[in-house]
Order: sequence, then C-alpha cells, then structure tokens
Amino acid sequence: MQGYTHTCPACDAKLKIHERYVGRTLHCPTCGTEFLADPNLADIDDIIDELVPAQKRSIPWLPITAALAVLVVAVLWLGQANRDGAFSKFFKTKRTAGQFAVLTIEGRDRVPAAMDRETVVFLVDAIEDADPGSLEALRAQGKIIDVASGTKIKIIERVGSERTARVRILEGVWTSRVVWVPVLAVQ
Ligand SMILES: [Zn+2]
Repeated sequence: MQGYTHTCPACDAKLKIHERYVGRTLHCPTCGTEFLADPNLADIDDIIDELVPAQKRSIPWLPITAALAVLVVAVLWLGQANRDGAFSKFFKTKRTAGQFAVLTIEGRDRVPAAMDRETVVFLVDAIEDADPGSLEALRAQGKIIDVASGTKIKIIERVGSERTARVRILEGVWTSRVVWVPVLAVQ
C-alpha cells in the first residue's frame, strides 16, 4: 500500500493513510480530530494546528471522568468496608478552629490534656508511643490534667504540623479551662 503514516496531533494515534485519501479532510478514528491527509504536512505541527479546530483537540474527558468515578466509588467502598483502614481518614470529620467537638480517645475513660504548648508535644509522643511512664511523669509535675472522655470542648486553634490543638473545656470540673490536646483526641 502506498500512502503514509499520519500522527494525530491531538491524541498521537498513528494512522495509516492510503494514498487515495491524500488531499482529503479526514477524522481521527480515535478522537475525532479533523485533519488534512497530506504527507507533506503530517509532521508540521504548526500547520496542523491551523487545520484543527481548537475545541476538537481537547482532553479526552470521557475516560478521565470514568476513571475518577471508579476511584470515588473505590474509596467510598473501601472506606465503608474498613473504617480503620487506609481510607478511614477520608471519613473522619476534621474538626477545625471555632468548631465544637468532644475529647475522647478510644479505650480510655480519661483524656490527658496539657497546660501549655511545650508539654503537649511530649504528650502527643507519650500517647502515640503508648508510654504510660512519660504520662505519669508529666502528671506528677502538674503539667497535664485528666479530662473525662466525652467532655465537650471548643477548638481555639489547631497546629497541624504538631498534631495538637488548643481547646476550651466546656463542661465538667475543668470548665472554661484552656488546654492543649493531641488532635487525635478531638472528635
Ligand atoms: Zn486523534
């Protein structure tokens, strides 16, 4: 067969063009882009650009939309199936400054809270490492208090990089006290 290979300027499909089509306006079978079948123009992008309407050289939205839909469904499905799994963070409400929340740590009836920002950094480490010795030391120094799990609070600020938040306690014996707590205890 005579002819030439035309590279579609929009989708890069390699199209074998029979010589009898040379000189005609054709459509790419993959993406629909219109082009002039001319071996002399085939590799000259600038000229091709003039021949191709801009809106037809666009992004393939259908496959992209389909892929996104599949991803969303997968995330939702995995999240439903395993709330503590890799996707659980998508389902936990992220509380931010100004919002009301509750102090709680799963499996504990009391949540340690730090009196100052320096201490809460140690507190986060102690809780994440499950290190009761460090907690006890901080408590003995009067740097932390224990708040009943489920206590209502209002978030004053949230330091994402340190995984800590400054909150005001709204009920119980520590009412109106401002403390620093690990973000993981803010639900
Ligand atoms: Zn194409």
